Amino acid sequence: MLAQKVKASLYAYDYDALIALVKSFNQPKFRAKQIWDFLYHKRISNIADMYNLPNKLIADLSGDYAIFDIAIVKVLSSADGNSWKYLLETHDGHLIECVLLKYAHGYTLCVSSQVGCAMGCTFCASTIDGLARHLKAYEMWQQILLVNYDQNIRISRVVMMGSGEPLHNYAASLQFIKTISDADHLGLSQRHITLSTCGIVDRIYDLAAEKLQITLAVSLHSPFDAERSEIVPINRQAPIADLLRAIDHYFAATGRRVTIEYALIKGKNDSAAHANALVEHLRGKPIHVNLIPINPIAERNYSPPDKQYVTAFKKRLETAGIHTTQRRELGDDIQGACGQLRRSQKKQ
Ligand code: SAH
Repeated sequence: MLAQKVKASLYAYDYDALIALVKSFNQPKFRAKQIWDFLYHKRISNIADMYNLPNKLIADLSGDYAIFDIAIVKVLSSADGNSWKYLLETHDGHLIECVLLKYAHGYTLCVSSQVGCAMGCTFCASTIDGLARHLKAYEMWQQILLVNYDQNIRISRVVMMGSGEPLHNYAASLQFIKTISDADHLGLSQRHITLSTCGIVDRIYDLAAEKLQITLAVSLHSPFDAERSEIVPINRQAPIADLLRAIDHYFAATGRRVTIEYALIKGKNDSAAHANALVEHLRGKPIHVNLIPINPIAERNYSPPDKQYVTAFKKRLETAGIHTTQRRELGDDIQGACGQLRRSQKKQ
């Protein structure tokens, strides 16, 4: 049997490239505008549904092009009906994940920026097989458009907290943010976009120079260099003091308060000594701490602390005047932690 030819996604084309494409089919420029409207402002999944295009153009386009080049493999919905985990397949057969979260204020999508991850954080399922490849920017926004289509919704917030390290895929991540926040594209407010990093310090300076209005989230997870180097290996290249300086610089350059993510692991980084050392690092800084009880993954024997330890940890930070939230526990029943669903599928 002949292998089926993979059609190129129209989401890979910017406006000028779409104009060139319709012109190559001897069509006037305004057809590009019509196609653009279907791609970004209407929810369709078939070129044939672009009802105001001439049949000839639909036929010409359909030969080599498609709307999506990412397919939905599986959707798991949580018992509470407020989160959905999508397992997706890229055009070259890689599995990626994204998670849709429903909040009172609307829908948030947690997108992946890479297939797998090279960072090696010990509690994270995404990194166990290393990095397979970077995602292209259009594959990142395609996750949003695919879920919008599938659920018939309009996602209004995006967190780059799925698989991958966005600052390791820097150029594509930056293109993603700039593009989806463009009024002619998805028009998402930059204030509704969060980029989460394990702390690639040089790239934090590069990002600061862009002066975007996004939220930067930094995965700290330990206030002690030796321990952080063990669980977040990038720390061996840039210790906590360097990372904190980069965070200060990011605020100075953008005026945007940075979020510190801290995944609490029972018996590991959840002690009073940890909370106190964290306070020493962060006291008085324009930051916000987000505590995340660790989501256990099959490959490691980490577990979340008992509730009273989480509360006590939070209390210590708050007493020191540090604004602290605890992430709503979402999607435990749908393998909500990064990379878990993809791994279990690959193992089958
Ligand atoms: N590479 C980026 C973004 C992806 S991970 C980063 O490191 O920030 C998004 C967040 O989920 C990070 O804070 C990460 O440390 C955290 N995370 C990964 N695996 C987790 C798990 N099993 N339980 C809880 N949080 C986890």
